[in-house]
Amino acid sequence: MTEQQIRELQGLSSPEARQLQERFGKNELVPEKKESFPRKILQVISEPMFLLLLIAAVIYFILGEPRDGAIMLVFVVGIISIEVIQEWKTDQTLRALKDLSTPKISVLRDGMMQIINSSDLVPGDIMFIAEGVKVPADGTVLKASTLCVDESSLTGESAGVWKVVNGEKAADGELSLDSKEYWRRDYCYAGTLVTQGTGAIRVDQIGPATEYGKIGQEIAAAPDRPTPLEKQTGKLVKLCAGIAAVLFALVGVVTYFNLPDHVGSERVIESILSGITLAMAMIPEEFPVILTVFLSMGAWRLAKKQSLVRRLSSVETLGAVSVLCVDKTGTITMNQMTVRDTWSLNDDGERLIRIMGMGCEPDAYDPMEKAMIAYCEAQGVGRELLFDGELIKEYAFTDQTKMMGHVWQNENELVVAAKGSPERILDVCSLTDQERKVAEHKIREMSQQGLRVIAVGQMVLTGKEEVPDTLPECRLQLCGMVGLADPPRESVKQDIQICNKAGVRVVMITGDNGITASTIARQINMPNCDKIITGDELNQMSEEELREKVKDVSIFSRVIPEHKMRIVKAFKDNGEIVAMTGDGVNDAPALKYADIGIAMGKRGSEVSREAADLVLLDDNFSTIVDTIKDGRRIYDNIRKAVGYVFTIHIPIAFASLLAPFLGISPASLLLLPLHVVLLEVVIDPTCSIVLERQPAERDIMDQPPRNPNEKLLTAKILTKSVLQGLVIFGASFGTYFTILNNHPDQASLARTMALAIILLANLVLVQVNSSNTDSAFRSFAKLIRDKVMWMVNIGTLAGLLLIIYTPLNHLLKLAPLSWKQLILAAALAVVSVGWYEVVKGFKRWKRT
Ligand code: ADP
Ligand code: MG
Repeated sequence: MTEQQIRELQGLSSPEARQLQERFGKNELVPEKKESFPRKILQVISEPMFLLLLIAAVIYFILGEPRDGAIMLVFVVGIISIEVIQEWKTDQTLRALKDLSTPKISVLRDGMMQIINSSDLVPGDIMFIAEGVKVPADGTVLKASTLCVDESSLTGESAGVWKVVNGEKAADGELSLDSKEYWRRDYCYAGTLVTQGTGAIRVDQIGPATEYGKIGQEIAAAPDRPTPLEKQTGKLVKLCAGIAAVLFALVGVVTYFNLPDHVGSERVIESILSGITLAMAMIPEEFPVILTVFLSMGAWRLAKKQSLVRRLSSVETLGAVSVLCVDKTGTITMNQMTVRDTWSLNDDGERLIRIMGMGCEPDAYDPMEKAMIAYCEAQGVGRELLFDGELIKEYAFTDQTKMMGHVWQNENELVVAAKGSPERILDVCSLTDQERKVAEHKIREMSQQGLRVIAVGQMVLTGKEEVPDTLPECRLQLCGMVGLADPPRESVKQDIQICNKAGVRVVMITGDNGITASTIARQINMPNCDKIITGDELNQMSEEELREKVKDVSIFSRVIPEHKMRIVKAFKDNGEIVAMTGDGVNDAPALKYADIGIAMGKRGSEVSREAADLVLLDDNFSTIVDTIKDGRRIYDNIRKAVGYVFTIHIPIAFASLLAPFLGISPASLLLLPLHVVLLEVVIDPTCSIVLERQPAERDIMDQPPRNPNEKLLTAKILTKSVLQGLVIFGASFGTYFTILNNHPDQASLARTMALAIILLANLVLVQVNSSNTDSAFRSFAKLIRDKVMWMVNIGTLAGLLLIIYTPLNHLLKLAPLSWKQLILAAALAVVSVGWYEVVKGFKRWKRT
């Protein structure tokens, strides 16, 4: 759209738009669901953990201990608040992410072209659409330039519809307004896809009032399916709950027989209470929370690093990526072209340059064409010489023909100026055998320097009736060849090396010719850079052949977007997890099919972004590599957190389980329900805050990708967790039992010692388990400037002192510790967890 054309249009002003939005609402199919606050609380309360808590509180009241019941209720409120805050924060994060990735559209507001969120469109707005845009609202066509729209999503009709300007006659003579069809040709519909050209549309209907909206609102609201991780943790929680139910019964019965001196009803109630304590201690209700918090925070951190995750589950898949298929132009290279070399057939350099320029779009936006026009100007062939004639016809570039051209009428001549891939241009040129040989030699020579070679041809016509319908029908005269350099991005070499080490295969896909691609591949040290599969070879291959070939070929040249689908499929059939980049409309299916579809935020089309799982805001290869690394880090941290939760639940659960068997009276138990709740309040935030922030392990990119079928909790992690848990249990329960044995009347003191040990061990444990290789000190040092880390640690310590040394201790059935006892508790805590540092040290030593 030229500025002139924009000026002719009348858009809305910002205040008008605001008013209209108040009246018509947002341009969204389904208004955003806002969960009401009470509903959210209801949701939290209906979790099994809270039901247990509430039952416990009620039992206290029945037992005639309203004070204990009240304290329980306070804790219940505390836990609910933490959960609600956590959920609110997650929602906030996810909403911000969504906002970043919402579709945008150009509109005319306040007399200027602006880019706004499609959801902010209002009736009356003038929007500009172009190839690759998914039309966001219904509206009348005001301007159109070769505007073709794929309306199959609405009409099922797969052929593109050529749009005409409202009130004007269509090229085929049919008056648009008279159309008896339901679907009008002077109108664009929401949900359809612009496949060619540009247009200006006056918005008429938005949101549910559009034809697309009327068809069915369910299209837009695809529910998020549970991710593999969610399913795994769901199973894990269920399993633990099942075991808890069995043990609940066991502990209840044993306690019952331990209390022959209690009266009937009290005996039953006390037994139930012990059972509940155990059940509470056993259910790892933190797991689902860990997942949502880690994944959404991870996505948020990625967004800050220029990589936008559109589906949360992709974050977990990212870490498993084993094959990375990338477009060469713009991702591996900078997409900043310069003309480096020219060669003309008949030594008529000026003619070559002129025809090359005339073959470009006058308002070029393709970096290659920009480079060509810049070169023309540098050689003294200005724009006026190129574009002042009359444009008679355009031959559009297609991925199939890989060439394009224009027919220009100047004062003294009518000429077809064509340019494109040398193979295709030479196909339609008349050349002698000798000339062809020279030309082909020149192509090879330029390609071997890593240049993109473009052939330029012309056809001088005598009259307009001679203009051929299509470019392949032309008989061109070859003018010559142009070689353009598009240097690889600086960091690519290093990134390729990282990928090699990390067991991620990089596959280069390009529309360029094989020699150019292979030269660039050599420049950036890609392995196997002399093995190439061309698009034509691909067409000849069967699925099986391709599957065999892709095992060691990493360069695909002269491919068209449709080939990408086959390439992804071949890799996936070989059991790889494939990430694939794409920017064009035709890339969308392959992006959807790949495990991770990556769209380009800058040069990509709206449709490709919509099909993608990940949008790269800076189109940079390094960002992809960083994102994969972060995916690994996040998954790693989830594992650490799950392992940690498992560990810390063991001393709690065992203490509740063992007590009845040792015949300890219910009043002297190490953990009363109160204390279990207290611990739950601490565990959840500590792990989700501290472990979520852990930086990646140093060797995270020196390992092959994880096996996607591997369980979250492997036997190795489980063994480590159980061992760690048992030692903490030994330290805490041992201390408690010893004190209780010597002084049966000092249950509170015994309990306080044990509780202090567990709480302190918990703090140390998070640090120790922060890294599988680095020492706890190192992990701590890495985050020494992190305020949140300090807050968590100091908060826990302060909380511990508070419940031991203030009057709160009476309420919580605790007793103050002497300094000596406190130091002993701290020492036991450190030793009971610190031993694992020795194991890590040994592992490090063994590796060197
Ligand atoms: P890539 O996948 O590397 O971006 P493209 O699909 O854009 O490659 O282009 C493939 C080939 O088509 C190029 O090597 C070139 O020969 C030809 N080509 C691309 N754009 C143009 C253009 N604007 N004019 C003429 N030929 C072009
Ligand atoms: Mg390209």
